[in-house]
Amino acid sequence: MTFDLRTIYAMTAVACVVLGMLQCAAYFTGRFERWLAWWSASNFLVGIGSFLISLRSIAPDSMTVQFGNVLTVAGCVLLPASMRIFVGRTVSLLYCSLIIAVLGIPFVTIFSAHDASLQRIAYGSAVYCLLDLAVAREAHRLGREEKLYSAELAVGLFVLTAMLYASRSTMAMTGLLGDGNLFNGGDAVHAWVALSAMVFLTLRSMVIMLMAGERASARLRAAAYCDALTGVLNRGGLVQSFAELSPKPLAVLLIDIDHFKQLNDAHGHAMGDEVLRAFASSAANALDDGDLIARHGGDEFVIVLKERSLEQAVAIAEHIRLAFVTSLRRLGDRLSVLPTLSIGAAAESAGPVDLEALLHKADQALYARKRQGRNGVDAFREDVLAA
Ligand code: GH3
Ligand code: MG
Repeated sequence: MTFDLRTIYAMTAVACVVLGMLQCAAYFTGRFERWLAWWSASNFLVGIGSFLISLRSIAPDSMTVQFGNVLTVAGCVLLPASMRIFVGRTVSLLYCSLIIAVLGIPFVTIFSAHDASLQRIAYGSAVYCLLDLAVAREAHRLGREEKLYSAELAVGLFVLTAMLYASRSTMAMTGLLGDGNLFNGGDAVHAWVALSAMVFLTLRSMVIMLMAGERASARLRAAAYCDALTGVLNRGGLVQSFAELSPKPLAVLLIDIDHFKQLNDAHGHAMGDEVLRAFASSAANALDDGDLIARHGGDEFVIVLKERSLEQAVAIAEHIRLAFVTSLRRLGDRLSVLPTLSIGAAAESAGPVDLEALLHKADQALYARKRQGRNGVDAFREDVLAA
């Protein structure tokens, strides 16, 4: 089966422009970040470029061969730029324009002749291949950093199109792509490669929307499970993250800031908030990967220490207590009331662990500490508390 190459270019143009319009409309709803505007601009440029190329031998070469190819290159340069913005990195418009100029110049100089199509295809496809690999690299980074499965899907798609362009470039250089008389008589291999490229171009635009959706739901989930003031987990987040822990022995610390109400009264709520943040960040620094820290409510926090004994938990609690004193020094001499920490520790040496039951034990130890004058660590021991 042979497809008409000119029709495929025209269809690619329509598909890209329609996708560009949809993305542009989505961007103007204000619900998407700047990367979508760049991706949409890329689709418009590739669409218009492909349309101009499809007019070869109908319109002047300056429009079809030269302007058409330069626009297509410009569109392809915007893709890695858009992905960089998506990842959160900066992109300079000047730098992008320079790359477009450098990559576009051969189309208006050495490869500008009407019958130099094979050279143009070889060169252009090599350029598109490299740009697609650059997008795949950024998407891979995103997949690793934000754990987005759709980003890995994007990597797969962009590597596939890069391979497609690489083979197209090789075929053009080795004469496997016909005689270069593109739209006259047609070449079956070239038509199939162009058709596949059109399908992948469309899929790529869809996968980027999938990435945006997955990222939005991951952020929403993180916000739902996070304490907005201190950035640590909230109660819901603690229950959720605890359920994902492997059923191994562990220890918990229940921590309450002493005289916090007094501090609020003396220095105001804003200073109280600053102290809560100082505590959360100094405590988080004392933890290992996989340990959990959560705000239980008000000035009370929970720490889950994976695979630690009661003695180890008490040592870590002491460290957290002293680190809190140091972190308060960073607030300067502004505090007339110096808050301290009361900590209750409890451990379970055989998994699986019931979080609520263990927290109840830590709570008893915490209140024993409060009764004994605060500012210290008490451990829950069945024999001692029973006595
Ligand atoms: P104790 O030594 O017995 O722990 O007493 P305390 O003064 O620390 O009082 P308690 O733990 O019973 O009360 C906690 C206070 O924390 C009460 C509330 O006004 C204050 N608080 C709760 N949430 C916030 C918050 O988000 N920001 C600030 N600044 N204060 C808060
Ligand atoms: Mg308190």
